[in-house]
Amino acid sequence: MKDVAIIGLGCAGYTAAIYSARYKLDTVIIGEVEGGMGMSAADVGNWPGDIDIAGPDLMEKFKNHALSFENVAHVSGRVEHAEKAGDHFVLTMQNGDTLEAKALIIATGSNKRHLDLPGESELSGKGVTYCATCDAFFYRGKTVAVIGGGDSAVEGAAIAAQVAAKVYLIHRRDEFRAEPYWVDKVHEKDNVEFVLNTNVLEILGEERVSGVKLDTPYNGSDTLDLDGVFIEVGSIPATALAEQLGCKLDDRKHLKVDDALQTNIKGVFAAGDVSGGSNHFAQFATAAGEGAVAANSVFSYLQAGDGGHSGAMG
Ligand code: NAP
Repeated sequence: MKDVAIIGLGCAGYTAAIYSARYKLDTVIIGEVEGGMGMSAADVGNWPGDIDIAGPDLMEKFKNHALSFENVAHVSGRVEHAEKAGDHFVLTMQNGDTLEAKALIIATGSNKRHLDLPGESELSGKGVTYCATCDAFFYRGKTVAVIGGGDSAVEGAAIAAQVAAKVYLIHRRDEFRAEPYWVDKVHEKDNVEFVLNTNVLEILGEERVSGVKLDTPYNGSDTLDLDGVFIEVGSIPATALAEQLGCKLDDRKHLKVDDALQTNIKGVFAAGDVSGGSNHFAQFATAAGEGAVAANSVFSYLQAGDGGHSGAMG
């Protein structure tokens, strides 16, 4: 029986493990994909203390720090099922193994949103991808489009412009929600064209992507010829496991948490992109902050012995 099981190997999960370890909690951290969404950040310029660091390098540091403690065990794999059994929790892994813990920290992050356009699933992996910063490298000298107007899309367009011959940034509005830092970066590139107030209606191509169909003509045509399309239209919180436990969602489909980051289920805490904490602002700094708060809350919960916090928002 572990004191705490942390599910998720991203920024929030690793930070929760570091704090749990220092609270002397017998800790296990479980997950499938090391580094989580942080792995797709090409260029992190807002992690305090590192002026400029690549996401994978930052996540490697998080992982090494978290796993440096003797009281942090690491289990690689997918948790298929979670349930409450009296005053503790039982997790069943995909391979059938079970793990028991007195408290849980759900740090399962989020998954990239799809547009579900005609041609999208058929051409997924054949020119359609969901991570511009990860995949731009394969499009050296080619013509690509990035769809979206948030940090992922605008950063993705700036990174893609370093290798591709031409990048179209297609956004449904004429204002970006991305950080002005990235908007400026992309404006500095002379091989990026902005296709604004425009939606993509269809991904075109037979064996591979050949273009997209637009709802508004651009330069007199309602199609763009392309070699690749990066869809960067946000993420959907990965709440399925927490929902098995009865955790409630907020109006933006994140896990509903109280100030201690406890969900409505006593002993189940949430941190990072899956939670609705930090005003839904998904950043390395906020995910790390939530990981720290969740571990502190687990410490109080276990010390109180009777469930600690009230179990938010019943
Ligand atoms: P996001 O901020 O939610 O932005 C999603 C974008 O996709 C928006 O511009 C949105 O348009 C557009 N969109 C959504 N649904 C659409 C649809 N059906 N059709 C067309 N366009 C659609 O997502 P994100 O950029 O992935 O960022 C997620 C979080 O991660 C944010 O908190 C962000 O700050 C963070 N992030 C940070 C960094 C960094 O700091 N380096 C890098 C990447 C991501 P509207 O604007 O019109 O709504």
